[in-house]
Amino acid sequence: MRPVTPRSVAVIGAGAGGLVAARELLREGHKVVVFEREDKVGGTWVYNPVIESDPLGIDPSRKVVHSSLYASLRTNLPREVMGFREYPFVATNKTQRDPRRFPGHREVLEYLNDYVSEFGLNELVRFGTEVSHVGLVENGKWKVSSRIREDRVDEIYDAVVVCNGHYTEPRIAEIPGIDVWPGKQIHSHNYRVPEPFRDQVVILIGSSASAKDISRDISVVAKEVHIACRSIKDGTLGKLPGHDNMWLCSMIESVHEDGTVVFQDGTAVCADVILHCTGYKYHFPFLDTGGIVAVDDNRVGPLYKHIFPPFLSPCLSFVGLPFKVVPFPLLEFQSKWIAGVLSGRLALPSPEEMLEDVEAFYLRLEASGVPKRYTHNIVDYQFEYNDWLAAECGCPPVEEWRKEMFSETAKNILGGRPETYRDEWDDHHLVLQAHEDFGKYLS
Ligand code: FAD
Repeated sequence: MRPVTPRSVAVIGAGAGGLVAARELLREGHKVVVFEREDKVGGTWVYNPVIESDPLGIDPSRKVVHSSLYASLRTNLPREVMGFREYPFVATNKTQRDPRRFPGHREVLEYLNDYVSEFGLNELVRFGTEVSHVGLVENGKWKVSSRIREDRVDEIYDAVVVCNGHYTEPRIAEIPGIDVWPGKQIHSHNYRVPEPFRDQVVILIGSSASAKDISRDISVVAKEVHIACRSIKDGTLGKLPGHDNMWLCSMIESVHEDGTVVFQDGTAVCADVILHCTGYKYHFPFLDTGGIVAVDDNRVGPLYKHIFPPFLSPCLSFVGLPFKVVPFPLLEFQSKWIAGVLSGRLALPSPEEMLEDVEAFYLRLEASGVPKRYTHNIVDYQFEYNDWLAAECGCPPVEEWRKEMFSETAKNILGGRPETYRDEWDDHHLVLQAHEDFGKYLS
């Protein structure tokens, strides 16, 4: 189908989100430029052994390293669930590839490189080009200023799609007494390998997938690893079964000049390092909307369906804000919708109606006691969200096998196999269904 109105679109970032946005915009007939400050596509999936000058990642003058990957990282989703719907993430028999269902991070980067080659996206990307400012000009268009080394370029675009990722700007735990505590602090953004923690007593804060991986990684060389979590099930505090140097602890109450860390249950240890696995903040240092879109306590808003600011739509949009999701298929649905809306093939409600929808959403969150900072945590309704987008775009909903495989994996992680779920599973029947389905997209 021919687009109603092809537009010139600036896509910021060439991670998974920017790449799928570029593909969908191109398919719809738009003219696309992808700005990427690094010299490779892949964003998060480009492992960088370098760590930032400030290991906590909060010094604004530090040279930012984009990716938060650690060397040992394997995906926490099976490849069948993780991949784009229209470009399945299947094992290939090319040399140097990782055929495992939960492959290492290099395999994901290779997959994204294959995606770029398959759809001819490389020529759309301006590498080494950082977007420094995006601001509204007349007629609803946007001025995009970018830097290649010392040169600054200003250009006008009909629309901007923001795909800059949200796992780079660390969020740090507030700890009473931290200013006088003599130990080292680091955020997981700057964790790469366990060696620096050899023979150390480490306090790791957090309970995310990365926190679990990193604590196990470190426990092989560290003297002791104490994992401090906010929410702990009754009776689970204490030594972790199967490990002789790992403990689950309550949250940190305070830290002291003599190196002691005191936990909320009154226990204490003398520690060398505090490792914050405490997540990330949304950060759009280049975006100037005159206050129409703001980040408030990690809520980016107001945004209709986590994508369009009602009064700047459709010419400004955000891809990839929801978290605790299966990212790639979600990025794909969001991008299809944006591309169709921009061409005028798909319609949005009026700005007033969109704002009303957003406000009603915020009220529902508040009424259910969901803190503002979890606005984009859609773990409980990610597939309904994708199905809604699919319906808007006239696509089939999320595959049943994908939903079931996702919940089988979650059960495997939380249930019997938290440490071995990447290599042991029972959902072989779903793998067969997935591969039957992939036949539609694989030539
Ligand atoms: P990113 O991949 O972060 O890409 C953003 C891009 O924007 C980068 O290339 C960056 O250089 C560029 N950029 C930023 N600012 C500018 C600017 N001003 N100008 C120009 N370019 C700019 N997902 C899974 O599906 N499975 C997993 O197992 C998994 N594990 C993960 C483990 C970790 C430790 C982390 C941090 C994330 C993990 N994820 C996982 C989520 C992962 O982030 C997403 O899969 C996906 O990579 C997000 O893509 P993105 O394009 O939104 O962001």
